[in-house]
Amino acid sequence: MAFQKAVKGTVLIGGGAIATVFGLSQFSQYRNKHGSLVNVQAAEAVTVPIKNDFPTREEQISTLKSTPEFDVLIIGGGATGCGCALDAVTRGLKTALLERDDFSSGTSSRSTKLIHGGVRYLQKAIMKLDFEQYKMVKEALQERANLLEIAPHLSAPLPIMLPVYKWWQLPYYWIGIKLYDLVAGSQCLKRSYVLSKSRALEHFPMLRKDKLVGAIVYYDGQHNDARMNLAIALTAARYGAATANYTEVLRLLKRTEPGSGKQRVCGARCRDVLTGQEFDVKAKCVINATGPFTDSVRKMDDQEVPNICQPSAGVHIVMPGYYSPDNMGLLDPATSDGRVIFFLPWEKMTIAGTTDSPTDVTSHPIPTEEDINFILSEVRNYLSVDVEVRRGDVLAAWSGIRPLVTDPNSKDTQSICRNHVVAVSDSGLVTIAGGKWTTYRAMAQDTIDAAIQAHNLPAGSSKTIGLLLQGAEDWSPTLYIRLVQDYGLESEVAQHLASTYGDKAFEVAKIAQVTGKRWPIVGKRLVSEFPYIEAEVIYGVKEYARTAVDIISRRTRLAFLNVQAAEEALPRIVDIMGKELNWNEQKKKEELEAARKFLYYEMGYKVKSDQLTDSSEITLMPSDIERYKKRFHMFDKDKKGFITILDVQRVLESISVQIDEKTLHDILNEVDLNKNGQVELIEFLQLMSAIQKGHVSGSRLAVLMKTAEENLRQRVVIPVDRSGGGL
Ligand SMILES: Cc1cc2nc3c(=O)[nH]c(=O)nc-3n(C[C@H](O)[C@H](O)[C@H](O)COP(=O)(O)OP(=O)(O)OC[C@H]3O[C@@H](n4cnc5c(N)ncnc54)[C@H](O)[C@@H]3O)c2cc1C
Repeated sequence: MAFQKAVKGTVLIGGGAIATVFGLSQFSQYRNKHGSLVNVQAAEAVTVPIKNDFPTREEQISTLKSTPEFDVLIIGGGATGCGCALDAVTRGLKTALLERDDFSSGTSSRSTKLIHGGVRYLQKAIMKLDFEQYKMVKEALQERANLLEIAPHLSAPLPIMLPVYKWWQLPYYWIGIKLYDLVAGSQCLKRSYVLSKSRALEHFPMLRKDKLVGAIVYYDGQHNDARMNLAIALTAARYGAATANYTEVLRLLKRTEPGSGKQRVCGARCRDVLTGQEFDVKAKCVINATGPFTDSVRKMDDQEVPNICQPSAGVHIVMPGYYSPDNMGLLDPATSDGRVIFFLPWEKMTIAGTTDSPTDVTSHPIPTEEDINFILSEVRNYLSVDVEVRRGDVLAAWSGIRPLVTDPNSKDTQSICRNHVVAVSDSGLVTIAGGKWTTYRAMAQDTIDAAIQAHNLPAGSSKTIGLLLQGAEDWSPTLYIRLVQDYGLESEVAQHLASTYGDKAFEVAKIAQVTGKRWPIVGKRLVSEFPYIEAEVIYGVKEYARTAVDIISRRTRLAFLNVQAAEEALPRIVDIMGKELNWNEQKKKEELEAARKFLYYEMGYKVKSDQLTDSSEITLMPSDIERYKKRFHMFDKDKKGFITILDVQRVLESISVQIDEKTLHDILNEVDLNKNGQVELIEFLQLMSAIQKGHVSGSRLAVLMKTAEENLRQRVVIPVDRSGGGL
């Protein structure tokens, strides 16, 4: 066995060494040819003027309706579509973009948030001596550098640790990771390094100690994906692209070409989802950038065309920040079933994922309990036994659909494309499919190049390398200090605004409400434990947010960070949006319901309820049941068999604890599984059983009732803790 390992190690090291030479020669060739890829001056080459602000959605819709013919019409407002719009408009093309939901509502807001070349793809490139794969990694690494450069407020390098548990893996991983640095060449973010076991544990104290040999740390980029997507869309709009969210393409328009008699795509029939109004948008070229939905648009062009998308779902979970160090991620390159798992700090929380399983294409993917448990069990494998990894600490969970595609240009229709593909149909529809977030700009460049060629459009080469995105122009790492000093914002809020809106953070600060307190002077939080403020809702509406879901999931990231906090913030968000958008009471109610449904199904709330229901065989000891029954009856004085808000209020008043009615509603709602407005004894026992099994933690009702019981016993008043609240 040991011999086998040694042989394997030698082979791998040998392979690695050969690859190093290969990589080095590529690297020097690259350096000689390109010098520095990230040329921020590139923006100056853009001759199209940029406006200070972007038009309103209503103005955009009216431009879409009144323009006789666009050069390009892009379908899909994810990273790829918005990237295409920016590439086209900065080349001087008259550009339109239609998104049927919100910008980034699809896969682009549900990624792992990494801007990366893919260490594991490089490993495959080396092991299989696959030059195509190598080129793909190289391109992604160049794009990684560009993205960090053009939106420094929304992205940053992140050190990622690869824990090593076998001696022979150390040189193997080290060579692989060094090669990753080398392939990045001048765009290497920071050099990778090796850590001894003790230094690894210093950096990552929660790591499992036994058998740990050491670790290797390398760098990739990380970003706020939905905000990055929006920044691309807003930049395109400022350059003059007519971009509209909530505008769905229903079918493609075709005309007969005079000479050949061929049918050519010349626009799309679309529907303003918010008003129901339908209209046509005409264009010389239509681009299909609909990610996992690529086949539905391809079939609008040609019903007979075979599918190219093989959708695959990936689930992520969010756990409290204390599960990972503030600035160190972790990569497990070989999980129990061969998949890669990332465990990364993000927005002061910990994000873990992802899984990979075949799925149907849907706009509303739902995370499953099986996926969540798989991730949790993998996390348990590399965290210290002292850290109890609890199901209840899952604060949010979501699923995203990878738009994996087969190449329609290729004879082999079965093999999945590792890179993106651009295809032009007989009728001129340009489809861009596959790829990844990191390479959206290169994908857009290839797509617009193909569109120009296929449709003879009057435009030059791409201008987007080094082109700064919305918020980046006057951003600096110390910008938040000016926000604190000039506006009187809390430091944490100021940092959040600066890293979300960049130099536009001042616009948000200007409309922030006075708190009425000595400090902070302005900036009312939406929920106490997150730095999101009410002014962001107003600004979000200006940034084309039209539903409460847009605010909780993509203008702020509350739904992705903590579903309970998002639910708590909803009524206030709906109130503010209602004022901005003139919603009546009925519309507000509908918005609230739609957003709750979104949290319930898409962000993991449902799985939580299922968890509680699953523990319906209550596995409590008879003595525990008696204890909990007593606690329950302290609240249910009339022995009705259920407790209501009034019951809880009565007990809390008797021990002088004040909680407002709305919060109480939320607290009860978490446990009220059959949603009949009251918590029955069985529901309460299910909750206590689930807590004992570790499925649920930090239930606020449980904490409240326990505290009340202790208080009544001791007659000492202590404040009620707010828990983090798990799913
Ligand atoms: C779990 C997971 C993790 C990932 N992690 C990473 C990562 O860390 N780094 C990385 O680089 N990549 C990552 N990726 C890949 C990356 O997220 C995707 O490749 C990318 O977001 C795809 O963007 P898109 O614009 O092509 O698709 P989408 O973002 O899905 O956008 C397509 C849009 O088209 C719209 N649309 C569809 N039909 C119509 C119509 N008829 N009319 C108008 N609009 C329409 C949809 O509403 C949707 O918004 C990950 C993917 C997954 C699934």
